[in-house]
Parts: sequence; structure tokens; C-alpha cells
Amino acid sequence: MPPQSESSFIGIELSESKLRAATVNSEGVITERREAALEADGLVSQLAQLVKELRQNTSGIEAVGVAIPGLVNRQTDQVVASRDLPAIVREGLHQELIEATGLRFELENDANAAAYGEFKVGAGRGGRDLFYITIGDGIGGAIILDGKLWTGASGLAGEVGHITIDTEGEECECGNTGCLETVASAPNIVRRANERLNRDSTSSLSKLAMNKDFTADDLAHEAKEGDDFSLMMIERTGKYIGTGVASVINLLNIERIVLGGGVMQAGDLILNPIIQEAKRRAFQPSFEATEILAATLGEDAATIGAAMLARDAGIS
Ligand SMILES: [Zn+2]
Repeated sequence: MPPQSESSFIGIELSESKLRAATVNSEGVITERREAALEADGLVSQLAQLVKELRQNTSGIEAVGVAIPGLVNRQTDQVVASRDLPAIVREGLHQELIEATGLRFELENDANAAAYGEFKVGAGRGGRDLFYITIGDGIGGAIILDGKLWTGASGLAGEVGHITIDTEGEECECGNTGCLETVASAPNIVRRANERLNRDSTSSLSKLAMNKDFTADDLAHEAKEGDDFSLMMIERTGKYIGTGVASVINLLNIERIVLGGGVMQAGDLILNPIIQEAKRRAFQPSFEATEILAATLGEDAATIGAAMLARDAGIS
């Protein structure tokens, strides 16, 4: 039975230090939001209390989706691995949440949930297939084929951040060297900018040279203000990402690629070099069949996506 129009869902995104939660109606519109510091030791009771409060304000909440920074097995509902959530939190999380609230829970990897949100409500809306890339502290990705998340043999499909861009490059957390993440994630944009500021005296004219602790956001801000050095760094970062995007196009011939995450807040300054580099490197007929778009849901992508996963898992 399809959900009734008055039914609502809760989406929750967990990260290392905080949680974002929202009540989302069946159309994918947020009607209430909450943010809190994550209590890793008492996560189940924290989430149960939050769900209780949200249910007091909205009737007809049917299920809860939780986006998790880690690998989730959707068949067993187990959180198999997570860098940010301690093992004690992961064990039995799904069952404990059901028992504590009496509601149905769907757990999913955070990049997958964000992809699903963009697919259903954001920049991917109306399509059939989508590749989603999120570029922030790390680089994640997800694949949606024929309207469904395609997660691969063991849940790890779409890890575009670990495509090799530079065989001689920096060591990556994954053990490889020169992954896309080692040049284009937010901390690595800052690292490359610092290296260049130290090496190249002309770049010391940049305002960034006066700020020892600048972030990738600061760099994007200076680029928007017209700072030549920051513009160059953003453009080069876009070229790296575009190189990865070209590989995705050649591999999947996919109709739409949506790019989100904090680094994409640089807007067209980064999107344009991504598209140009993808065009330069991808097989032309395949490039022409692909729309490359900026995500539209911003920081809400994973919470909305988790809620939509909770909605749609109840239909089948
Ligand atoms: Zn890697």
C-alpha cells in the first residue's frame, strides 16, 4: 500500500560529533529539524528521545531512516564498519532502536542516503540513473540504477574518492597512493594550497598567505572575491575532480552526475572546470549523454534521503 499523504518520516544523519535530524513529509519536504552533539555512549537512548519529541509534534510518523558514516549491510541491517562510530554503538543498533521506539528503522551509508535524497527530491529528480559524488572532508560516491541504490557485491560500490588520479601521489588512508581524495578533499585542498604558498613567492600576494589557519571554505570565499591564487587552486581542484568524473562517464555512460558536499559550495568556480576537464577526457558521445549538475539539497541531502529510504522501503 502506498503511504498516505499525511504520513511522515524521520531522517537522521550521524557523523563523528553531531547528529542532524528532520521530520520529512511523504513529498520529501522538511517540516521540522533538530541538531545535537552526538552522545556516542548513549546513542540509542538519545535517538529514542529525539524520535519521541519529533512524534509529539507530528502525527503519522511511520518509520525512521538513519544515515551512517560507515558500511551498512542492508540485508542484515548491521553496521559492518565505521571510522566514526565506536563498535559498542554499532552492535545491535538496528534492533535496539526498533525496541526503544516501536518504529521501523532503515540504516544506510551516509553517501548512499545523500544520493537517494538528491535522486528523489534534489538535482537527480525525474531521472532513472544517477552517480552522486560528495566532496568534503573525504570524497564519497554512490550509484543509483533504475531508481535503486546499487551498492555492489559487499556494499562498497561508488567509492570514486579512491580512483587513482596520480600514480606518484600522496599516500591515502585506504593504503593506495594518489587517490582523488588525496588531492581534492577539503583538507587536501588546504594542504596543496599551503605547499604552493611556501614554494611560490608570487602567491604570497594572496590574502590566504596572511591567514595561517585557512580552510577550504576560506579559499572558496577568496576565490569568489577574485583572489587569483585561490581561483587557480579551485580550478586545479576542479580539473582533478573532472578527471575522476571522466572515468565515471566512460565506465557507466550514466545520464546524470550530481556533485555535492562542502567543497561544491564554490559553485560554478569549481563546477565549470570539472565539466571542462570531463569533456576533455571522456569519450565524447558518452560525455554528451551525461548531465553534470551541482547538488541542490545542501546539508539536508542525507537526512532527506534517509527519510525517503524509510518511506520507500515500506512500499515494497
Ligand atoms: Zn584512497
